[in-house]
Amino acid sequence: MTANSMTTEISKEQQEEKESLNLFYSTQTVIQKALGKLGYPNEMYELLKEPLRLLTVRIPVRMDDGTVKIFTGYRSQHSDAVGPTKGGVRFHPEVNEEEVKALSIWMSLKCGITNLPYGGGKGGIICDPKKMSFRELERLSRGYVRAISQIVGPTKDIPAPDVYTNSQIMAWMMDEYSRLREFDSPGFITGKPIVLGGSQGRETATARGVTICIDEAAKKKGFNIQGARVVIQGFGNAGSYLAKFMHDAGAKVIAVSDVYGAVHDPNGLDIDYLLDRRDSFGTFSQLFKNTISNKELLELDCDILVPAAISNQITVENAANIKAKIVVEAANGPTTLEATKILSERGVLLVPDILASAGGVTVSYFEWVQNNQGYYWTEEEVDEKLVKVMVHSFETIYETAQKHQVDMRLAAYMVGIRKMAEAASFRGWV
Ligand code: NAD
Repeated sequence: MTANSMTTEISKEQQEEKESLNLFYSTQTVIQKALGKLGYPNEMYELLKEPLRLLTVRIPVRMDDGTVKIFTGYRSQHSDAVGPTKGGVRFHPEVNEEEVKALSIWMSLKCGITNLPYGGGKGGIICDPKKMSFRELERLSRGYVRAISQIVGPTKDIPAPDVYTNSQIMAWMMDEYSRLREFDSPGFITGKPIVLGGSQGRETATARGVTICIDEAAKKKGFNIQGARVVIQGFGNAGSYLAKFMHDAGAKVIAVSDVYGAVHDPNGLDIDYLLDRRDSFGTFSQLFKNTISNKELLELDCDILVPAAISNQITVENAANIKAKIVVEAANGPTTLEATKILSERGVLLVPDILASAGGVTVSYFEWVQNNQGYYWTEEEVDEKLVKVMVHSFETIYETAQKHQVDMRLAAYMVGIRKMAEAASFRGWV
């Protein structure tokens, strides 16, 4: 190899990594591959590669000190070929148009995988909720609903919680929507408090779905959850409940982290103690003296690694150092495409985000069904239905991966996009 060609190769690799760090671009790349494998024409890719609709809104909010601050928010609707769109609303300083668009496409894929009668949607507001008061958050939540009210609704687009949004925020949003429409509209939004029409099991649904995927993946890898060493990045809604479920199932949770750092104990952490001490943003590590970094956490020796925080955590930089036998993506987009390739070549079973974290939208769907029929299910009924959906989805994707000799991510995209494409064909769009 000449010095010149080596330079070209390195820069090509760096370019690929840069591109796969762009969530939107990497999502499109996999969709194109998946539609190609399924035999759809390029027009189908042209239709599904972008959301049908993206609304950008400016939200004036009166702050507690009397000043007015203008926030920017988005609502993206990927495809309504199957039914209304559905997806969370994120409050985060790094929310941006590309991310919201990519996340709405992922919601379509999740709904396709779990066979729900929805397409994908997603919303977000550029803000730092940690620096805002309770009342400022309420005014922002209500302002967002007023700004997007024309394109959302129980039969149009149904929001839900995501990063740094919770059942209280859903309650304010539902109240604002009901006031605008002048009738009680519990089916407008999911992830509500139980007393306002929330579903049993919704709060823990994402973590339950991840747990079910871990069970299935461990079976494929031929080891038992009992005594397995688990590492979880993120201790918010998804990560903290997952830690609890894993602990209760007899696994040894040896490390968990938040945005500031991680705690690690090879003998297993006291999860109930950590749950008691974390705040509503999923932070706890500042209470501890001996912490390790999030980077070190990802590379710990363990059986199961669950990124449950943010995107782009497993990259070409660290994929070769990941020691877990299975990686189950609770977060959206934690592993880049290049890193997926490296893990797959190394025999690590990666359960992709659009499958692993689909428990949340599945129980959101159950919540919407209960709201629409006005009849509510027990936690056992919800859990039984969730297990059925998740196990079936996992098996379908695992079999697709085996049949087509592709990794689980591409298989999940194939299963997820097929429904959207079929519906678009029947409607005569392509
Ligand atoms: P959350 O806001 O409740 O918690 C996020 C956690 O990640 C916190 O512990 C926070 O400290 C930590 N964190 C934030 N930035 C970090 C960083 N730079 N490095 C390490 N840790 C960091 O969020 P959540 O609802 O648990 O969601 C976590 C992930 O799971 C997101 O990617 C989200 O899109 C995905 N997800 C969540 C749900 C759900 O129902 N909650 C459903 C599907 C997917």
